Formats: sequence, C-alpha cells, structure tokens
Amino acid sequence: MTTEIFDVAVIGAGPGGYVAAIRCAQLGLNAVCIDEWKNGKGKPSLGGTCLNVGCIPSKALLESSENFHHIQHNASAHGISAEKVSVDVPVMIARKDKIVTTFTMGIASLFKKNKVKSMHGRGTLLKREGEESAWRIKVTHDEQSEIIQAKHVIVATGSTPRPLPFVAIDNDRVLDNAGALALTEVPKRLGVIGAGVIGLEMGSVWRRLGAEVTILEAMPDFLMAADEQIAKEAKSVFTKETGLQINTGIKINSIKLSGQTVIVDYNNSNNEPQILEVDKLIVAVGRVPNTQGLGIEDNELLVDERGFIMVDQFCRTNLKNVYAVGDVVRGPMLAHKASEEGVAVAERIENIEKGYSSEGEAIDFNVIPWVIYTSPEIAWVGKNEQELKAAGIAYKVGQFPFIANGRARAMGETSGFIKVLADEKSDRVLGVHMIGPHVSELISEAVMAMKFSASSQDIACIVHAHPSLSEVFHEAALGVDKRALHI
Ligand SMILES: Cc1cc2nc3c(=O)[nH]c(=O)nc-3n(C[C@H](O)[C@H](O)[C@H](O)COP(=O)(O)OP(=O)(O)OC[C@H]3O[C@@H](n4cnc5c(N)ncnc54)[C@H](O)[C@@H]3O)c2cc1C
Repeated sequence: MTTEIFDVAVIGAGPGGYVAAIRCAQLGLNAVCIDEWKNGKGKPSLGGTCLNVGCIPSKALLESSENFHHIQHNASAHGISAEKVSVDVPVMIARKDKIVTTFTMGIASLFKKNKVKSMHGRGTLLKREGEESAWRIKVTHDEQSEIIQAKHVIVATGSTPRPLPFVAIDNDRVLDNAGALALTEVPKRLGVIGAGVIGLEMGSVWRRLGAEVTILEAMPDFLMAADEQIAKEAKSVFTKETGLQINTGIKINSIKLSGQTVIVDYNNSNNEPQILEVDKLIVAVGRVPNTQGLGIEDNELLVDERGFIMVDQFCRTNLKNVYAVGDVVRGPMLAHKASEEGVAVAERIENIEKGYSSEGEAIDFNVIPWVIYTSPEIAWVGKNEQELKAAGIAYKVGQFPFIANGRARAMGETSGFIKVLADEKSDRVLGVHMIGPHVSELISEAVMAMKFSASSQDIACIVHAHPSLSEVFHEAALGVDKRALHI
C-alpha cells in the first residue's frame, strides 16, 4: 500500500470521471484517476464509453455515411456528377479508429499536463474500518494489485449495454454498440432492436451505406421521450426519405441464429406473428449502470431497484466523502450531463477541503440538451407539449419550418422545423424542440436562453445573421407572439 493519501480518487475515466479528475487538479487537489478500459488491441484507453465506443466513433461514422449519401443522392441537384461512387468500409472504420485514438491519447496528455495520476486497472472500494481517515482502493490489473488511499472518492463507472434475454451478444452476428461501430462490410439486411438514440444512429449509419434496415421497438409509439409533433415528423422523414423500416409496439418471442442468418420471431402491434431475417442484428435496448467489481456490497453503498447508485442533488452517496456521477446515477445518460456532474463534485470537494460553507448549485436537468444525430437531426431542451399539458401549464407556441429559410434551401436540407414553447403569462421559454439540419448546434442558443430564464421576446430581440439556420429559431420565437416575418 502506498503511504501517499490522495485528496481525490476518481474511479472511471469516461466524460464524468476524467473531467472530474482534471477539474480537481485545476483546483489544486491531488487527484488520481483509475480506469480499466482496454481497446481492441488490448491497450489501456481513456475516455470510457463516450470516446471508445459511443459519442465520438458514432459521430465519425455518421459523418462518413452522410457524405456517401450526399454524393449519391444530392450531388446531381448541384450539377455535380460522380460516377461509380463506392465505399471502402475498412477505410471508413480506420478513420473512425484514428479519431478515437487521437482523443483517448489526448486525455492521457491532459492528465499529464494537469498532474492527474492515471492508473490502469479495476478500482475496488475496500471496506472502511471504523476510524480510518481515508478510503482504501484496490487497483487490480493483470492479476496484480496495489492499494491506494484517498480522502474523497468519485465513482464514475458508467454503464454497459442492457442484454436481451433471447440471445447473447457475439459481436459477429448479434451486435452491441461496439460491434455496430466496427463492422467491416455493409450488411445487406440489418435488424435493430430498440428505436432509441443509439438504435436510430446506428441504423442510420448502415442505412446510408446501403443496408436494408428494420427497427423493432417495443414501446407503442416512436421516440416517446421527444415532443409528440417532433416524433411524428421524425418517423415520417425516417420512413419516407431515409428508408428506415420502423415497427413500434412489437413483442419479441425468440431470436435464433441459423447459418449466417439471424431470425427474429415477433408479434407486431396488431399481435400478428412476424418473422424478420437479417444478416446482422444490433441490440440497442438501453444501458444499465455499471457497478461490477466496485465493492458496493462490502461498503453497503446504496443502489436503487434498477441498480443505479443512489445520490442526492449534489451527487453525494450514502457513504461519507463518496460521490457518484454520470451514467451510474439517475438522470439522462448523456456525456455532457456526466461531465457537468463531475465538475460540480470537484468544486464541492474543493469547498469542503478549504472549509467553505457553500453547498454549491445542484444541476438543473431541465436545461440539459438532448440530441439525436440522425438526418435530419433532432434536439430539444426543457419541457415538451405533452409534459406541459400534463402539468396543467398554460403555454404559447411559436413554430417555423426550415423550408422557409434561405440557408436551409441553399443547403438543400429543408426538412423539419423549430418550435418554441413559452409560458402563457410570463412569456418565459419553457421548452425548445428542433428537427432539421445542424440542430445539434442550434440547440445551444436555446439552452442559453433557458439557463438565463429568457422570454421568447428576449430571443426575438436578438439579431441573427442572415442567411443562417439560426434564423429559424429567431422566427420561431417571433412566432410565439404571431409575428414571424417569413411565413
Ligand atoms: C453508441 C453510443 C453513442 C452515444 N452518443 C452520445 C452522444 O452523442 N452524446 C452524448 O451525450 N452521449 C452519448 N452517448 C452516451 C455517453 O457515451 C454516456 O452518457 C457517457 O459515456 C457516460 O459517461 P460516464 O463517465 O458516466 O461513463 P463511461 O463513459 O461509461 O465511462 C466509465 C468508465 O469507467 C470504467 N470503469 C467501470 N468500472 C470500473 C472500475 N471498477 N474500475 C476502473 N474503471 C472502471 C469503464 O471501463 C469506463 O472507462 C452514447 C453512447 C453510446 C453507447
């Protein structure tokens, strides 16, 4: 056991953990970050799910496949002809892998620069005996272990794909997100179980590259977390323009492997038996919190009935000086939410260490943006119409379509709209919902507006560059008081 006592030990180096460790170091705390992730070559790779098999690689493939799709389907409208357009999937995957490596190595450099000690291995919280002044953490790597000590612990161990009881993931024919991001050729027939964010993004990648994609979703409606009008528009564009087959309200009976084929036996929403035969099947039915090997039982660290570590609004667990952030706790499973919690906890620990009494600010989930990087993209922040109706809140609506926007027309990307929901009396913005080109970028303005309690009138007062996609947001805000100009 090392005699050094760290101020903070962070377990997990995903966007929750590595950001927490860097912020701790910036604040002058002596921090160590322990992570067990290994890449396909068996080498330690920082960044967790997000960098290795999540946000970054999926966006790399979405970009590549979008380019292929544009050249094939949209270039001719610009007078550009491209003959014999083909895709070299291994090159596309290698590009994605290079981006991932650059970023994961970048975190190692950030750790060095900020003097965060990085340890590879599994971190296990050892049982704390009565009067011990610090937590002891066993770091195990290749059957060797070392024990370190820290005054504060931040658990940021993330999540893993939820398994399906019907079939095991082999990442050959039945794939999780890691397998779906590493295919070396375009499957002719691809099945996706789950029409959530991951299922839609993965389905979009391989559809754009030419696969016939069928998505099976157990929920009765499509994208139930989104505003109903946005979900309806998305389903219409995805089925009519993108060519995704989306079946909701299904019930799976069995999944069998036969030769090179995966056979899904299910009942459709009318309870009629159906068979789907595909070459590859992506299972994207959600993710579960990862507390394996963390030592939660020994310490009686409380988890809820779904396995999430229980925390209060400041990410405090039931154990003294032990915090948990990111996918392993309640709230949206989003990288930026994990990072935000990591920063907040680091600042809270600094307050404690310096003897400040400030409680700090709890994170407001209502102003956390959601994005789905399909084509068109979907993004939202705040409450949707069905939530406002259910809460009995009176609201006004302003809406503007991309088809009436000059920049969208010039780009040839005219699907979708932006909708602003504002309080009937105070005009305060309660929610903003977007479907259309680059709304992953446009949503930030809405987040800022909501964070600073803006009214639709405040947004209407801001001059937006012309011609730009941001004018759609401006016009939607003007529309709240029925004064949109270009419609
Ligand atoms: C395909 C896909 C696409 C996604 N796209 C987006 C997106 O576009 N935008 C977005 O916001 N979110 C996206 N997400 C979600 C995002 O990846 C997660 O919300 C985010 O990674 C959570 O961060 P985290 O730090 O909590 O955990 P993770 O990123 O899961 O990191 C946890 C780390 O802890 C390590 N670990 C676990 N247990 C231990 C232990 N006992 N000891 C040591 N190390 C341990 C793990 O190996 C891992 O490295 C996507 C996810 C997937 C799967």
